[in-house]
Amino acid sequence: MRLGIISALHEEQQGLMEAMQGATTLSHGMRDYTLGLLWNIDAVCVLSRIGKVAAAMTATLLVEKFGVTHIVFTGVAGSGDKLVKVGDIVVAEALLQHDMDARPLFPRFEVPLTGLQRFASDLPLSEQLAGAADDFLRSDARLVLDPLEIQAFGLQQPRVHRGLIASGDQFIGSAAHVNQLKAAIPDLLAVEMEGAAVAQVCFELGVPYAVMRTVSDNANEEAAVDFMRFVQSVASRYAFGTIRNLCWRLAS
Ligand code: SAH
Repeated sequence: MRLGIISALHEEQQGLMEAMQGATTLSHGMRDYTLGLLWNIDAVCVLSRIGKVAAAMTATLLVEKFGVTHIVFTGVAGSGDKLVKVGDIVVAEALLQHDMDARPLFPRFEVPLTGLQRFASDLPLSEQLAGAADDFLRSDARLVLDPLEIQAFGLQQPRVHRGLIASGDQFIGSAAHVNQLKAAIPDLLAVEMEGAAVAQVCFELGVPYAVMRTVSDNANEEAAVDFMRFVQSVASRYAFGTIRNLCWRLAS
Protein backbone atom coordinates (compact mmCIF):
# COMPACT_ATOMS: atom_id res chain seq x y z
CA MET A 1 0.00 0.00 0.00
CA ARG A 2 1.08 3.56 -0.69
CA LEU A 3 -1.23 6.10 0.93
CA GLY A 4 -1.79 9.54 -0.59
CA ILE A 5 -2.87 12.13 1.98
CA ILE A 6 -4.39 15.32 0.57
CA SER A 7 -5.34 18.46 2.47
CA ALA A 8 -6.58 21.77 1.12
CA LEU A 9 -4.88 24.07 3.61
CA HIS A 10 -1.36 24.33 4.97
CA GLU A 11 -2.39 24.22 8.65
CA GLU A 12 -4.03 20.85 8.11
CA GLN A 13 -0.83 19.15 7.05
CA GLN A 14 2.00 20.85 8.90
CA GLY A 15 2.22 18.28 11.69
CA LEU A 16 2.23 15.32 9.31
CA MET A 17 5.27 16.67 7.46
CA GLU A 18 7.12 16.92 10.77
CA ALA A 19 6.14 13.37 11.77
CA MET A 20 7.31 11.85 8.51
CA GLN A 21 10.47 9.73 8.53
CA GLY A 22 12.96 9.91 5.68
CA ALA A 23 10.94 12.62 4.02
CA THR A 24 11.84 13.80 0.55
CA THR A 25 9.94 16.48 -1.31
CA LEU A 26 9.35 16.69 -5.03
CA SER A 27 7.80 19.77 -6.61
CA HIS A 28 5.60 19.37 -9.64
CA GLY A 29 2.80 21.44 -11.14
CA MET A 30 2.93 24.06 -8.36
CA ARG A 31 2.60 21.51 -5.58
CA ASP A 32 5.05 19.89 -3.17
CA TYR A 33 4.68 16.13 -2.78
CA THR A 34 6.40 14.85 0.37
CA LEU A 35 7.19 11.12 0.36
CA GLY A 36 8.24 9.09 3.39
CA LEU A 37 7.11 6.83 6.21
CA LEU A 38 4.23 7.93 8.44
CA TRP A 39 3.96 5.58 11.44
CA ASN A 40 5.23 2.75 9.21
CA ILE A 41 2.93 3.49 6.30
CA ASP A 42 4.48 4.42 2.97
CA ALA A 43 2.83 7.81 2.38
CA VAL A 44 2.78 10.85 0.11
CA CYS A 45 1.45 14.12 1.58
CA VAL A 46 0.38 17.04 -0.57
CA LEU A 47 -1.64 20.24 -0.35
CA SER A 48 -4.21 20.34 -3.11
CA ARG A 49 -4.98 24.02 -2.60
CA ILE A 50 -8.61 25.05 -2.77
CA GLY A 51 -11.37 24.01 -5.18
CA LYS A 52 -12.41 21.09 -7.34
CA VAL A 53 -9.96 21.56 -10.21
CA ALA A 54 -7.04 21.91 -7.80
CA ALA A 55 -8.12 18.78 -5.94
CA ALA A 56 -8.74 16.77 -9.12
CA MET A 57 -5.31 17.57 -10.50
CA THR A 58 -3.66 16.67 -7.21
CA ALA A 59 -5.46 13.34 -6.92
CA THR A 60 -4.64 12.44 -10.52
CA LEU A 61 -0.97 13.19 -10.09
CA LEU A 62 -0.79 11.28 -6.81
CA VAL A 63 -1.96 8.18 -8.65
CA GLU A 64 -0.28 8.57 -12.02
CA LYS A 65 3.05 10.08 -11.03
CA PHE A 66 3.53 9.06 -7.40
CA GLY A 67 1.94 5.60 -7.55
CA VAL A 68 -0.37 5.86 -4.57
CA THR A 69 -2.80 2.95 -4.18
CA HIS A 70 -5.20 4.64 -1.73
CA ILE A 71 -6.17 8.27 -1.06
CA VAL A 72 -7.37 9.94 2.12
CA PHE A 73 -8.50 13.57 2.18
CA THR A 74 -8.49 15.53 5.45
CA GLY A 75 -9.95 18.98 5.73
CA VAL A 76 -12.58 21.25 7.17
CA ALA A 77 -16.15 21.88 6.09
CA GLY A 78 -19.29 23.81 6.80
CA SER A 79 -22.16 21.99 8.50
CA GLY A 80 -25.02 20.89 6.27
CA ASP A 81 -27.30 19.57 9.00
CA LYS A 82 -28.46 20.88 12.35
CA LEU A 83 -27.20 17.75 14.11
CA VAL A 84 -23.69 18.27 12.72
CA LYS A 85 -21.94 20.70 15.08
CA VAL A 86 -18.73 22.68 14.87
CA GLY A 87 -15.99 20.35 16.10
CA ASP A 88 -17.72 17.18 14.89
CA ILE A 89 -16.13 15.02 12.21
CA VAL A 90 -17.90 13.87 9.06
CA VAL A 91 -16.55 10.82 7.23
CA ALA A 92 -18.04 10.59 3.74
CA GLU A 93 -20.07 7.60 2.67
CA ALA A 94 -20.64 9.35 -0.64
CA LEU A 95 -19.80 12.68 -2.27
CA LEU A 96 -21.72 14.89 -4.68
CA GLN A 97 -20.82 18.00 -6.72
CA HIS A 98 -23.49 20.47 -5.66
CA ASP A 99 -22.64 22.95 -8.43
CA MET A 100 -22.89 20.35 -11.22
CA ASP A 101 -26.00 21.16 -13.25
CA ALA A 102 -26.21 20.10 -16.90
CA ARG A 103 -29.99 20.25 -17.06
CA PRO A 104 -31.89 19.68 -19.28
CA LEU A 105 -29.37 17.28 -20.79
CA PHE A 106 -28.75 15.42 -17.52
CA PRO A 107 -30.48 15.45 -14.13
CA ARG A 108 -29.26 18.03 -11.63
CA PHE A 109 -26.01 16.95 -9.87
CA GLU A 110 -25.36 14.09 -12.31
CA VAL A 111 -21.80 14.05 -13.62
CA PRO A 112 -22.34 13.71 -17.37
CA LEU A 113 -21.43 10.34 -18.86
CA THR A 114 -20.92 8.64 -15.51
CA GLY A 115 -24.64 8.24 -14.80
CA LEU A 116 -23.87 9.19 -11.19
CA GLN A 117 -24.78 11.99 -8.84
CA ARG A 118 -23.04 10.40 -5.89
CA PHE A 119 -19.66 8.74 -5.74
CA ALA A 120 -19.38 6.18 -2.94
CA SER A 121 -16.18 6.20 -0.91
CA ASP A 122 -14.32 2.95 -0.22
CA LEU A 123 -16.11 1.19 2.62
CA PRO A 124 -13.18 -0.60 4.35
CA LEU A 125 -10.96 2.50 4.22
CA SER A 126 -13.81 4.74 5.40
CA GLU A 127 -14.55 2.35 8.29
CA GLN A 128 -10.91 2.57 9.36
CA LEU A 129 -10.91 6.34 9.00
CA ALA A 130 -14.12 6.75 10.99
CA GLY A 131 -12.69 4.45 13.68
CA ALA A 132 -9.49 6.49 13.75
CA ALA A 133 -11.50 9.71 14.06
CA ASP A 134 -13.62 8.24 16.83
CA ASP A 135 -10.51 7.11 18.74
CA PHE A 136 -9.16 10.63 18.40
CA LEU A 137 -12.32 12.28 19.73
CA ARG A 138 -12.68 9.81 22.59
CA SER A 139 -9.15 9.76 23.90
CA ASP A 140 -6.81 12.32 22.34
CA ALA A 141 -8.88 15.43 21.68
CA ARG A 142 -9.00 16.60 25.29
CA LEU A 143 -5.25 16.17 25.68
CA VAL A 144 -4.22 18.13 22.60
CA LEU A 145 -6.83 20.88 22.49
CA ASP A 146 -6.51 24.10 24.44
CA PRO A 147 -9.32 24.25 27.05
CA LEU A 148 -10.00 27.82 25.96
CA GLU A 149 -10.67 26.63 22.43
CA ILE A 150 -12.90 23.81 23.69
CA GLN A 151 -14.87 26.50 25.51
CA ALA A 152 -14.87 29.02 22.65
CA PHE A 153 -16.07 26.58 20.01
CA GLY A 154 -18.29 24.50 22.33
CA LEU A 155 -16.42 21.26 21.65
CA GLN A 156 -17.70 19.40 24.72
CA GLN A 157 -19.31 16.42 22.98
CA PRO A 158 -17.76 16.05 19.55
CA ARG A 159 -18.87 13.08 17.48
CA VAL A 160 -18.26 11.30 14.19
CA HIS A 161 -21.00 11.28 11.54
CA ARG A 162 -21.07 9.16 8.38
CA GLY A 163 -22.95 10.27 5.30
CA LEU A 164 -23.12 12.61 2.34
CA ILE A 165 -20.65 15.45 1.73
CA ALA A 166 -21.24 17.96 -1.08
CA SER A 167 -18.51 19.93 -2.83
CA GLY A 168 -18.58 22.99 -5.06
CA ASP A 169 -16.39 25.90 -6.08
CA GLN A 170 -17.99 28.22 -3.55
CA PHE A 171 -17.37 29.04 0.08
CA ILE A 172 -20.88 28.75 1.52
CA GLY A 173 -21.32 31.68 3.89
CA SER A 174 -25.02 32.39 4.04
CA ALA A 175 -27.87 30.61 5.76
CA ALA A 176 -30.06 31.13 2.68
CA HIS A 177 -27.53 29.34 0.47
CA VAL A 178 -26.97 26.36 2.73
CA ASN A 179 -30.73 26.01 3.31
CA GLN A 180 -31.28 25.99 -0.43
CA LEU A 181 -28.75 23.18 -0.83
CA LYS A 182 -30.31 21.28 2.05
CA ALA A 183 -33.72 21.52 0.39
CA ALA A 184 -32.31 19.99 -2.79
CA ILE A 185 -30.16 17.41 -0.94
CA PRO A 186 -32.02 16.39 2.25
CA ASP A 187 -29.37 13.94 3.54
CA LEU A 188 -26.55 16.49 3.22
CA LEU A 189 -24.17 16.52 6.22
CA ALA A 190 -21.38 18.91 5.19
CA VAL A 191 -20.29 21.32 2.46
CA GLU A 192 -16.75 21.87 1.23
CA MET A 193 -14.82 22.52 -1.97
CA GLU A 194 -12.74 19.47 -2.92
CA GLY A 195 -13.95 16.07 -1.78
CA ALA A 196 -16.29 15.21 -4.64
CA ALA A 197 -13.61 16.08 -7.19
CA VAL A 198 -11.21 13.63 -5.56
CA ALA A 199 -14.07 11.12 -5.48
CA GLN A 200 -14.70 11.40 -9.22
CA VAL A 201 -11.01 11.04 -10.08
CA CYS A 202 -10.63 8.02 -7.80
CA PHE A 203 -13.80 6.45 -9.20
CA GLU A 204 -12.58 6.89 -12.77
CA LEU A 205 -9.09 5.56 -11.96
CA GLY A 206 -10.35 2.73 -9.73
CA VAL A 207 -8.49 3.91 -6.61
CA PRO A 208 -10.05 3.40 -3.15
CA TYR A 209 -10.47 6.66 -1.24
CA ALA A 210 -11.94 8.11 1.93
CA VAL A 211 -12.71 11.68 3.01
CA MET A 212 -12.84 13.16 6.52
CA ARG A 213 -13.92 16.68 7.33
CA THR A 214 -13.81 18.49 10.64
CA VAL A 215 -16.75 20.89 10.82
CA SER A 216 -15.28 24.39 11.12
CA ASP A 217 -18.37 26.54 10.65
CA ASN A 218 -22.11 26.52 10.02
CA ALA A 219 -21.89 27.71 6.40
CA ASN A 220 -23.78 30.85 7.44
CA GLU A 221 -22.94 34.53 7.83
CA GLU A 222 -20.44 33.83 10.63
CA ALA A 223 -18.60 31.14 8.67
CA ALA A 224 -15.62 33.19 7.53
CA VAL A 225 -14.98 34.64 11.00
CA ASP A 226 -14.85 31.29 12.78
CA PHE A 227 -12.98 29.63 10.02
CA MET A 228 -9.32 30.73 10.26
CA ARG A 229 -9.06 30.47 14.03
CA PHE A 230 -10.66 27.05 13.94
CA VAL A 231 -8.31 25.76 11.25
CA GLN A 232 -5.25 26.93 13.13
CA SER A 233 -6.09 25.81 16.63
CA VAL A 234 -8.46 22.87 16.23
CA ALA A 235 -8.68 21.30 12.76
CA SER A 236 -4.92 20.89 12.45
CA ARG A 237 -4.95 18.74 15.63
CA TYR A 238 -7.90 16.68 14.46
CA ALA A 239 -6.27 15.88 11.13
CA PHE A 240 -2.95 14.96 12.72
CA GLY A 241 -4.48 12.75 15.43
CA THR A 242 -6.86 11.01 13.07
CA ILE A 243 -4.23 10.26 10.42
CA ARG A 244 -1.86 8.94 13.09
CA ASN A 245 -4.57 6.63 14.41
CA LEU A 246 -5.40 5.57 10.85
CA CYS A 247 -1.76 4.71 10.09
CA TRP A 248 -1.56 2.67 13.32
CA ARG A 249 -4.65 0.75 12.29
CA LEU A 250 -3.44 0.18 8.72
CA ALA A 251 0.01 -0.93 9.86
CA SER A 252 -1.26 -3.45 12.41
N1 SAH B 1 -10.16 32.22 3.81
C1 SAH B 1 -9.55 30.98 3.43
C2 SAH B 1 -10.38 30.35 2.37
C3 SAH B 1 -10.64 28.94 2.65
S1 SAH B 1 -11.76 28.27 1.55
C4 SAH B 1 -8.15 31.23 2.96
O1 SAH B 1 -7.87 32.34 2.54
O2 SAH B 1 -7.32 30.32 3.01
C5 SAH B 1 -12.47 27.09 2.57
C6 SAH B 1 -11.79 25.77 2.68
O3 SAH B 1 -12.37 25.05 3.75
C7 SAH B 1 -11.98 24.91 1.46
O4 SAH B 1 -10.86 24.08 1.29
C8 SAH B 1 -13.25 24.11 1.80
O5 SAH B 1 -13.13 22.76 1.41
C9 SAH B 1 -13.41 24.19 3.30
N2 SAH B 1 -14.64 24.81 3.84
C10 SAH B 1 -14.83 25.07 5.16
N3 SAH B 1 -16.01 25.65 5.37
C11 SAH B 1 -16.62 25.78 4.16
C12 SAH B 1 -17.86 26.34 3.74
N4 SAH B 1 -18.69 26.90 4.61
N5 SAH B 1 -18.15 26.30 2.43
C13 SAH B 1 -17.28 25.76 1.55
N6 SAH B 1 -16.09 25.24 1.89
C14 SAH B 1 -15.74 25.23 3.18
